[in-house]
Amino acid sequence: MRSSFDMKEVDYLIIGAGVSGLSFANKVKTKNYLIVEKDPEAGGYCKTIKKQGFVWDYSGHFFHFQNNKIKTFLLKRMDKSAVVNVLKNSVIHYKHNYIDFPFQKNIHQLPKSEYQDCLNDLYKIKKTKPRSFKEMVYNNYGRSISEKFLIPYNEKLYACDLDTLDQNAMGRFFPQASLKEILKHSANPNNTSYNTTFTYPKNGAMQYIHALLKDLKSERILLNESVIKIDPKTKTAYTNKRTIKYKRLISSVPFPKLLSFTSMPFTKKDFSSNKVLVFNLGFDSKGNSEHHWVYFPNKKYRFYRIGYYDNIIQKNRMSLYVEIGMRTNEKVNVDKELSRVLNDLKKASIITDQKLIASHHVVMDPAYVHINKASQKIFLTKQKTLHKLGIYSIGRYGGWKYCSIEDNIIEAFDLSKKLIRATI
Ligand SMILES: Cc1cc2nc3c(=O)[nH]c(=O)nc-3n(C[C@H](O)[C@H](O)[C@H](O)COP(=O)(O)OP(=O)(O)OC[C@H]3O[C@@H](n4cnc5c(N)ncnc54)[C@H](O)[C@@H]3O)c2cc1C
Repeated sequence: MRSSFDMKEVDYLIIGAGVSGLSFANKVKTKNYLIVEKDPEAGGYCKTIKKQGFVWDYSGHFFHFQNNKIKTFLLKRMDKSAVVNVLKNSVIHYKHNYIDFPFQKNIHQLPKSEYQDCLNDLYKIKKTKPRSFKEMVYNNYGRSISEKFLIPYNEKLYACDLDTLDQNAMGRFFPQASLKEILKHSANPNNTSYNTTFTYPKNGAMQYIHALLKDLKSERILLNESVIKIDPKTKTAYTNKRTIKYKRLISSVPFPKLLSFTSMPFTKKDFSSNKVLVFNLGFDSKGNSEHHWVYFPNKKYRFYRIGYYDNIIQKNRMSLYVEIGMRTNEKVNVDKELSRVLNDLKKASIITDQKLIASHHVVMDPAYVHINKASQKIFLTKQKTLHKLGIYSIGRYGGWKYCSIEDNIIEAFDLSKKLIRATI
């Protein structure tokens, strides 16, 4: 069936109905806009799955709001009583014990000799300018802290050589601590970080998507439809179903994908990333911990992190998410991976006699982009060219960066204001 939008010109064509695309649409909702989304439902990476009474997201999606306006905007459109505010309880699984996260601030919880090694190495560090993420870690924290946690953990997460990442690859999400802070913290522990508390809707991250959908007209969101080509000269987008003329195009698809839609040349290796295989696992009874999530630096465990939904939303059956970082070209054998995960969960005493009664998996690809100087430079140059053509690439993958959903919303709101102002 041909829709009434065929060949019509829209002021704003938005590609992707994830947090970024929907946030942008919320600010231009009185204008002539259209959203094209390839999936059968909106939400992007913030979708929620419900199975046998378990509520799971694509992966642990918790919300560390720093901007009250954004928090209020969302909560006004939600059932507030179904949103929990939680004081974070996150730990590191280290040699069959748990130590508080972040590692570098909690070395006093290590066995005495290991604590001493960490301190000795911290006193020895020479502050030279790091050329990579790996060098930043060694330069700032010394050998012991780096090799006990920071390097193995991040190698598992990013699935790449950390020497290929920029020193600021994780931006504000990397909990930095000076020697003075580490020593002060040993004497007076206070685990504040960018995400000391978080909020979470009991019915999953998708509730935030419903809030963003609340004021939008459903006929302006074309689901199950993929943009496949863009002609920037004639400002025309081609989907698998129709042709759409636009004045401005807002894209939240991964940046390299946008470049290929517009036939802009680029080298694939300049935009590398990992993928994350996520298992959501539902058990018949509770586990034996009150943690919200646990980091696993040891490579003998397949996953880099697991989290307990049941401890966050207070349920009486253990409900876990398990995250495995992989190279994008690595084959995924779901059955083999699940069996390894269950074994490793037993090895780490996360499961004892609980029985698995429901499961789900998803591959997030891309998941963590590999940020380095070269990719950032190319991104900025291409972005400038695209802006001149009326194309704006936003979001975590459109912007090829590490950020949170709150950052996505702020960026989309700011861009809409800027573009509306430019047309007045
Ligand atoms: C493992 C993991 C854990 C995370 N945990 C958190 C967390 O705890 N807290 C937090 O704040 N953030 C978290 N994030 C980040 C968060 O998921 C993202 O910031 C956010 O979901 C990005 O939204 P987006 O709209 O920019 O992109 P996306 O959600 O990727 O949306 C893009 C949309 O574009 C659509 N699309 C793609 N190609 C096409 C096409 N050709 N045509 C039409 N549509 C198309 C996609 O289907 C998708 O719906 C996490 C990310 C990962 C990978």
